[in-house]
Amino acid sequence: MEILTKYCDLCEALQQLDESGYCFGCGKHADNMVVKTQEDWEADYADIMKEYYRKDKLIKKNTKKQLKGLVNVSGLYRWLEENDTWEPLGIFSIEEKPKSATGFPSIDNLIKFIIIDNPNKEDESFMSYELVKNDEYRGQTHYYVWQTTTNMEGDSYSGYLLIPLNNGKVFKVSYTC
Ligand SMILES: [Zn+2]
Repeated sequence: MEILTKYCDLCEALQQLDESGYCFGCGKHADNMVVKTQEDWEADYADIMKEYYRKDKLIKKNTKKQLKGLVNVSGLYRWLEENDTWEPLGIFSIEEKPKSATGFPSIDNLIKFIIIDNPNKEDESFMSYELVKNDEYRGQTHYYVWQTTTNMEGDSYSGYLLIPLNNGKVFKVSYTC
């Protein structure tokens, strides 16, 4: 059976329709949906991207304020901008788990953390961060990284960085490159 999809203006997303033409998301009938032209789609997309960049800029600016005095912020930001597309996730307290908890007891630079004040604690349970010695900007000595490949070719990466701060906490960042 052919699965029909249509843009549902109530869900604000492409949605599957059931056999009678009702949106699976909200139950609205396709006859009552707004039909979008290619131009509408492009305008919408441009708006979404504009909004995304506006928010991204604002979040990074606010994060900069939170990081003030805790790290060489301008050096850190320059480094992050150079390498990756990145998003700040927050400042957290971490606790190192015993070496045996990494599952790789013989590999010295793999460290497992619990992010104590992360609301989704279980989020971290499978992650062993790699300690990377690095001094790309003034004041930096190391960071922790958890990385995965995001495509079949293996040339696209994403992951998380934990940047140590001078108050003992870490700044967590997600990135893709
Ligand atoms: Zn809907």
